Formats: sequence, structure tokens, C-alpha cells
Amino acid sequence: MKMTKAIQKIMIIGAGQMGSGIAQTLAQNDLSVTLYDLGQDVLDRGQAAIAAGLNRLVIKGNLNVQERDLILANLTTSLNLEDAKDVDLVIEAAPEQMEIKKALFARLDLICKPNTLFASNTSSLSITDMATATKRPQLVIGMHFMNPVPIMPLVEIIRGLATSEEAFEHINRLALAIGKTPVEVKDFPGFISNRLLMPMINEAIFTVYEGVAEPESVDQIMRLGMKYPMGPLELADFIGLDTCLAIMETLQQGFGDSKYRPCPLLRKYVQAGWLGRKAGRGFFLYNGQQG
Ligand code: NAD
Repeated sequence: MKMTKAIQKIMIIGAGQMGSGIAQTLAQNDLSVTLYDLGQDVLDRGQAAIAAGLNRLVIKGNLNVQERDLILANLTTSLNLEDAKDVDLVIEAAPEQMEIKKALFARLDLICKPNTLFASNTSSLSITDMATATKRPQLVIGMHFMNPVPIMPLVEIIRGLATSEEAFEHINRLALAIGKTPVEVKDFPGFISNRLLMPMINEAIFTVYEGVAEPESVDQIMRLGMKYPMGPLELADFIGLDTCLAIMETLQQGFGDSKYRPCPLLRKYVQAGWLGRKAGRGFFLYNGQQG
């Protein structure tokens, strides 16, 4: 399927921390964005996060109020997946579970134009596998943004086995057009970013589990000793402990290697709903929660 037109209309699936960050970044680059999620409350939270992000830029003097309003005018929200019928690209940022992502792509395959590109912001899951939920595997690609999206320059671009050169070129160009640096990676579990980062975070959790040190000490050692801007446990809380666990499970299953086994303490925190910053509690406490 020919895709000569530049990408202009985009739907983001999932208005969580990544979806709202991606939507903000695209809207700031004058693209028309529809943010889709399952509930109005989540959409309202996503929109509020975007408005707060833009207001911070206004306060810093990096944006004026008129520019902010123009950016906000590029954004709409939707509770109806059918609104994807005329977009050029969907970027999926739903939870890190293959069944959810495949079910969404299968539905979108019936709704979208035949030449609409399907990108997933997955942190670790197989693009090749996700593509099998559609009749357009050549148009399915990984577009892995980093958190917080408006600030982090990298986009990891993942080619599935069937991804066409044309689809790759479109997504590569889009990443450049929104001021990011795309880096191409083949489709293996965790790609590069999370194959390297997540075992380090998991090992940090093991040190707490085994009583080697308290979370604050683990983070201090990596911040002060290795010049990490954030300690691994603070970073895990920032990413979301559910996402960290899902990535470790993908690495473990994908490579069949026990060196990727998730720490039992990580699993326990996720069972407790202590998902990190977004839940108010993870390895550290947020939003005035009590320990
Ligand atoms: P999140 O929990 O903040 O947001 C997920 C959103 O998806 C929620 O708003 C939820 O309501 C929505 N959702 C759930 N089921 C849905 C469905 N069927 N249709 C539409 N929306 C649905 O999670 P997040 O941190 O934004 O992560 C989203 C994706 O981005 C995951 O695949 C994750 O691995 C990836 N990712 C996360 C990070 C990070 O640092 N958190 C970084 C890069 C990539």
C-alpha cells in the first residue's frame, strides 16, 4: 500500500503517562492528535498533565500563552475507537500486555484506512507477534519513546520481521520531524534500552530483597558513585513497577534464560498495587502518602 502523504492525523491509544507525553510532543509539533482511552476520568487526567506541562513552559518563558493555546487546539480526546477511521497513524500506549495490544490492533485493523500505520510504544514486546493481529503486518512498527516524552531525545524504532522499508522511513522521518533522535533496533525482547536497563533495575530490587541495603542507599550509590541522574529504584517507581515486571517477564520468556527472573519483591509490590509514582507508593512514597 502506497503511503506518499506525510503523517498529519494521529490517534494515541492510552492516555497514561506515556500516551499523554506522546500526545503533547506531537501537538507541540503541529500535528493533529486524538487521545483515546477507556474512561473520561483518565482522559481528563491526561489532558490536565499536558496542560500542566505546557504551563511550565510558559512560566519558564519558553512558550507564550497564544502558542500554548494553539498547541492545545491540536488535541482532542475520544472514548470511541471508531474515531481512528481517518487517521494516518495510530500509536498504541496501552498497558504492557500482549493480549491488550493485539486486541486493540485487531479492532483498529477493521476501523482504519488500509494505509494507516500502526506503531506500538511497547517497552519490550514482539512487534512481529503484535503484527499478526492485523492484515497489515508490513505497516506495524515499534516506536518506543522514553519517559518523560517531551524531554527525552531518544526514540527506539523497532522493525518487525514484516515491517516494510516504507513504513520504517515514515516513522523515522516523523521522529526527526518532532525533534527526536531515532535509533533503529531489531525485534528482540526488550530491544536495546530495556534489555540493558531492566536487569539493572531488577538487580537493585534484589539487593533490597536480600537486605543488602535500604532503597535510599542503593539509589544514593548509583547517583553519587555512577553519576546516574536518578537511582534505579526511583527510576523503577517512575516507569511503573507493573511495567518493570512485565518487561522482566518478557525478557525471561523471550530468551528462556533464568538470569532475567523477576525479583519476588517486585512481584509482591505489584500484587499490592504499589506501582510506583503513579500509585503514590512504590519503593518510595509520593503525594504525601504515609509509610
Ligand atoms: P499507564 O498505566 O500510565 O497508562 C496506560 C493507559 O492505557 C491507561 O490510561 C489505561 O486506562 C489505558 N488502557 C488500558 N487498557 C486500554 C485499552 N484496551 N484501550 C485503550 N487504553 C487502555 O502506562 P504507561 O507507563 O503510559 O505505559 C504505556 C505503554 O508504554 C506500555 O506498553 C509501556 O511498556 C510503554 N512504555 C512505558 C514507559 C514508562 O517509563 N512508563 C516508557 C516507554 C514505554
